[in-house]
Amino acid sequence: MKVRSLRAKVVLPLVAVGVAVGAGGAWYTERTFAALVAQQVRHRAELLMNAVTYAVEITAEPAELVRTVNSLGGEHDVLFIAVVADRPPRVVASTRNAWINLAASALPDQEARDDVSEAMERHQPRAYLDRETMDWHFATPLRMSNLFLTNLQRSDGALVLKLDGRSMQRDLSKALWRMMGALGTTVLLVGALAYLLLRRLVLRPLALVRAAMDRRAAGDAAAYAPALGPDEIGTLAATLNTMLDAVAASETRVRAVLDNVADGIVTFDAAGVVESFNPAAERIFDYPPAEVVGHDGRLLVPGLDPAAASRVPRGELVGRRRDGSTFPLELAVSEVDLGGQRLAIAVLRDVTDRKQVELALQEARDAALDQARLKSEFLANMSHEIRTPMNGIFGMTDLLLETPLGPEQRDFLTTVRRCSENLLTVINDILDFSKIEAGKLELDVREFNLSAVLDDAMVVHAPRAAAKGLELASLIHADVPRAVRGDAGRLAQVLLNLVGNAVKFTERGEIVVRVTLAQQSDDHATVRFAVSDTGIGIPLDKRHRLFGSFSQVDGSMTRRYGGTGLGLAISKRLVALMGGSIGVESEEGHGSIFWFTVRLARAARAAQPAPAELRGVRVLVVDDNETNRTILEQQLGGWGMRHATAERGEQALALLRAAAHAGDPYRLVICDMQMPGMDGAALAQAIRADASLDDAILVLLSSLGHLAGARDDQRLFAVRLTKPIREAQLVESLVTALAASRPKRQPPAARGKARRTPGRRRILLVEDDADNRLTALHLLKAAGLTADVATNGREALAALAATAYDLVLMDVQMPELDGLEAAAAIRAREGTARHTPIIAMTAAALAGDRERCLAAGMDDYIAKPIQMAPLHLLLAKWLGPPAARKGRRTETSRRAAEAPR
Ligand code: ADP
Repeated sequence: MKVRSLRAKVVLPLVAVGVAVGAGGAWYTERTFAALVAQQVRHRAELLMNAVTYAVEITAEPAELVRTVNSLGGEHDVLFIAVVADRPPRVVASTRNAWINLAASALPDQEARDDVSEAMERHQPRAYLDRETMDWHFATPLRMSNLFLTNLQRSDGALVLKLDGRSMQRDLSKALWRMMGALGTTVLLVGALAYLLLRRLVLRPLALVRAAMDRRAAGDAAAYAPALGPDEIGTLAATLNTMLDAVAASETRVRAVLDNVADGIVTFDAAGVVESFNPAAERIFDYPPAEVVGHDGRLLVPGLDPAAASRVPRGELVGRRRDGSTFPLELAVSEVDLGGQRLAIAVLRDVTDRKQVELALQEARDAALDQARLKSEFLANMSHEIRTPMNGIFGMTDLLLETPLGPEQRDFLTTVRRCSENLLTVINDILDFSKIEAGKLELDVREFNLSAVLDDAMVVHAPRAAAKGLELASLIHADVPRAVRGDAGRLAQVLLNLVGNAVKFTERGEIVVRVTLAQQSDDHATVRFAVSDTGIGIPLDKRHRLFGSFSQVDGSMTRRYGGTGLGLAISKRLVALMGGSIGVESEEGHGSIFWFTVRLARAARAAQPAPAELRGVRVLVVDDNETNRTILEQQLGGWGMRHATAERGEQALALLRAAAHAGDPYRLVICDMQMPGMDGAALAQAIRADASLDDAILVLLSSLGHLAGARDDQRLFAVRLTKPIREAQLVESLVTALAASRPKRQPPAARGKARRTPGRRRILLVEDDADNRLTALHLLKAAGLTADVATNGREALAALAATAYDLVLMDVQMPELDGLEAAAAIRAREGTARHTPIIAMTAAALAGDRERCLAAGMDDYIAKPIQMAPLHLLLAKWLGPPAARKGRRTETSRRAAEAPR
């Protein structure tokens, strides 16, 4: 920056002002001088003429006038004065003595002659400048009343005057120049004084401060501005000193930080030359600063491109130490502009240790992944190995139970069956959990009916709930979409687990599943399931552990209630997979509510409207259990029915009679079987006994196990339903009962279409394991079916070439030709001409099994161990309904609902 001294800044304007004032004055004088002179001359002439005129009037004799005129005209610039009077006119007084008493016309000065005659004839005063001679002429008429001067008679007269203009001009200009000189001197003096003061008070102190700052800038840490007193400049200097101290302190702090940080900090200039190098950088690179500062930064970081460094502000490069060894270096560069100079600040860190840890981690991770892969392979094998013998145990136990047995034998066998079931649950839990942990679990998304899945889950636990005398009920709110897409099997698994726990941990009371809509969009719905029980509840401090693996609220409970402690952990992961969350609310000793949400896609097909037949129909619900009443009311209301409820039989009778009396009788009465006082059967009898109520259609709800007792009352009821009630079943029963109209006294089975007995069905069983073959054959026999046998895929192909089978049950893992290859070969052979249903039987439980079977051309899938109930369901699906068999067990297990997946 170009510095201009303050002195120059002050002096130059002062001189400029002086010169400008002088020049301006001269120019002005020059311009006005002539006018000034003229004005001066006129003024002087006027004074002279007035004085002479006055003297003319007052003098008593001519000689006195001559003296007065001479004294007035004595100045060097008066050329002459002449007073003319008398008759004939003559000079009565003049500064020129020779002119006295001369006739006016005889005056030697031509112009004076003219002026006199002009004044006397025209009586006009006259004044003019003779430019040639620069003489001023003045003439004025006089009225002569002074008789002493005019021989005692009045006469006209004149006064003429001639002034030397040149001389007056000279005088005036002399005076002017004197004045200008004085003015100039004053300006100079004032200017000099002002400058001296300025120099003493401002310029010199500032120069001292500046000198101190220059010394400071040159590195003299002891340089301070001098003490300059209490005026503004003194304060400024003191403030500067305080600032210097503050800057020094902050510099010390910054330096301390730079010297002590663990990261190396190096600054480079625009050309990549090192400007500073902190102690940490010294340690990292093992260089003293002297060998680095002023050198190219590539000495330290060979790959550093000074131009690109700030454009790639962070990265990993290779650093080089003094001894030439290299190491991984993490580098962060930022750029600053210091007074026009570009400076790159690099923060560097030796990441050798971190790299080693990363490498170790990477290796550990690879090893762990390897382990996990081995584990899941092992699991797949284990799954196969465990389930294969289980198949025999289940099948044979089921079959044995179908044979005539003594009470003790039946008891032993039932225990074996239960223990196997428990064992299977444990195995399934562990396998599922391992699959989830190994990330092998994939969702099998397809369209399903939400209410059917819920109903199935309820039915599975109905026997145990009934055995404990628990009410089991479910309710899906009207706004919950029924047709959805998702993994029905996994949803059922979570529901089964929660409802199973609820049944397990509840001794009396009820278990209710409520399904509500938590959130919805055009194509998705988040559905909330809440399973509430009236069981033992969970203490607050134990709740957080519930969803962890292998955790049970109380170790001793395990023995009392059994279980692996994996159910909730699995449920939590499944729910997370389905885009939801899970939680619990509980009051110890009063019960728990386990809830979870899942995100389901809405299925394209439109929701089925409630059947029109039910709309407006009057229905009475009789149940002592409030929850059941509420649920039924909601369902019936949802279908547009006019509903009312009664808690007891007597109340119901009163309501029915009142309605009949009023001419708007109840068409339907839905009554619970187990009620205190008047039970369902007694109420039905009372209704039938009353002629006015004869039109009412009676629907009986009873818990599992109580059905047998009600058998005698069958003819009283048009419909009998077992709790938990399936929504679809209830609608269908009500519609059918209404359609049959008038009171029906026979059970619906008698009215319904006769059950079809499957004709002779030809089944091919393909299975390599002899035990499993035997089991399967017996299970088929229990379903009233027989089967031909093949022990591997090749035999199966041969058998199929000879006979047209209605169904093939195909093991997957077999010698020679496995199930997948065999299925593919069968499909290839059949082409479009025929399609024999093939059902896979597999013990493997890993993700993708089902897909692999279906991809190979199979139609369905059953998991081993094969159990009676799921097998029968499957047979019914592919061959039509089974023949009714004597004493067939209705009990299904947890696996049963899972199996048809
Ligand atoms: P388990 O196989 O032991 O049932 P879960 O993970 O399903 O494993 O449940 C873990 C524990 O949570 C149970 O052992 C029990 O202590 C507690 N629990 C689960 N459900 C309930 C419930 N409805 N009422 C009381 N306690 C429950």
